[in-house]
Amino acid sequence: MEKKLTVDKAKIEGKRVLVRVDYNVPLEGTRVADDTRIRGSLPTVRHLLERGARPILVSHLGRPDGKVVESLRMDPVVKRAGELLGRPVRKAPGCIESEVQGMARAMKEGDVLFLENVRFYAGEEEGDPKFAGQLAALAEAYVNDAFGACHRPHASVVGVTRHLSSSAGLLLKKEIEYARCIFESGETPFAAVLGGAKVSDKIPILESLIETVDSFLIGGAMAYTFLRARGVDVGASRVEEACLETAARILEKCEAGNVRALLPVDHVVARSPKDTAGMQTVTDIPAGWMGCDIGPQTAALYEGELARSRMVILNGPMGVFENPKFAQGTKRIVRAMAESQGVTIVGGGDSVHAVETFGAAERMSHISTGGGAFLEMLAHRTLPGIEALAGA
Ligand code: AMP
Repeated sequence: MEKKLTVDKAKIEGKRVLVRVDYNVPLEGTRVADDTRIRGSLPTVRHLLERGARPILVSHLGRPDGKVVESLRMDPVVKRAGELLGRPVRKAPGCIESEVQGMARAMKEGDVLFLENVRFYAGEEEGDPKFAGQLAALAEAYVNDAFGACHRPHASVVGVTRHLSSSAGLLLKKEIEYARCIFESGETPFAAVLGGAKVSDKIPILESLIETVDSFLIGGAMAYTFLRARGVDVGASRVEEACLETAARILEKCEAGNVRALLPVDHVVARSPKDTAGMQTVTDIPAGWMGCDIGPQTAALYEGELARSRMVILNGPMGVFENPKFAQGTKRIVRAMAESQGVTIVGGGDSVHAVETFGAAERMSHISTGGGAFLEMLAHRTLPGIEALAGA
């Protein structure tokens, strides 16, 4: 990935700056239930204000599919952003209309303007050049601080960069630095811990990382497709039949490329994640039983691998960690990462949640703010929204 111009190096003094943020936050009625994402890009907004720029914030919220949806108006988000910034934030009634263009032109130093939900316009998700041009007409420069949207070639993510000088915001800068670190730092040994529910989601990531990592530590339901591909009986564990061939091919590729693909050697099994009566730890899964977590021997094996690694990424839990009975494997992996002296990177909604649940968030080098975007970045080594930004 090419180095990108970042907002701290961009010429933005006195300019109106369109800032793409990812404020797609959970709402409870008209209240923001979790403001983590809003807090995440406040440093960029403050940085712009300190340098005399006039930020015009734009985000999507939910999936209104190109129409106005009353419950998805930005008002609760704008209110919370204003409270956190400690200054009034004006909300525009739309994104591109002449009234909004007028509000943008009338901005004075210290003003912050917030546009309406950008996905109220069909042109956003279509990446319509006309809509991108209308958005860009509001401003004299563009900053992208929405890593969570960078995998989308949308108008406010990619299209506007064709009209405005563009740079990465401070939050996106950190994400780009760690993405470059994953693929280009050459830190070794490099272990990728992959888990979660579906192999099909993770195949592009495995294929992309195979060139870079020294070992894959595989857990979660996806491990059972790999074990099955190796001819191991996995009882009633979740197997994606359609992925068996691909799984076998990936294991072969690992072998040929000297990448160690570690699979669970023992398991915590139950009749189902909900029916835990008689749950037990086994090395061979009996018929009718389902692997719901990696067992203690596997956890110890993976801990050993993590202790000697200089770079570790985690995506996906090792078991059905939402149930404390099946959380031990994920907990041990997360703790081992927290103790690592190397670079530790976590991404994906469930993994971030697990790291927070086990109190290890502060001890990771980087927790990615992009769920789907993080997965796409691992799979493609870059993202359209990042590629579109000016080089450093
Ligand atoms: P993902 O979104 O692909 O990262 O998957 C996360 C989900 O995978 C979590 O909700 C876990 O409960 C689930 N999961 C992890 N391990 C297993 C397993 N062995 N069997 C079934 N589901 C699992």
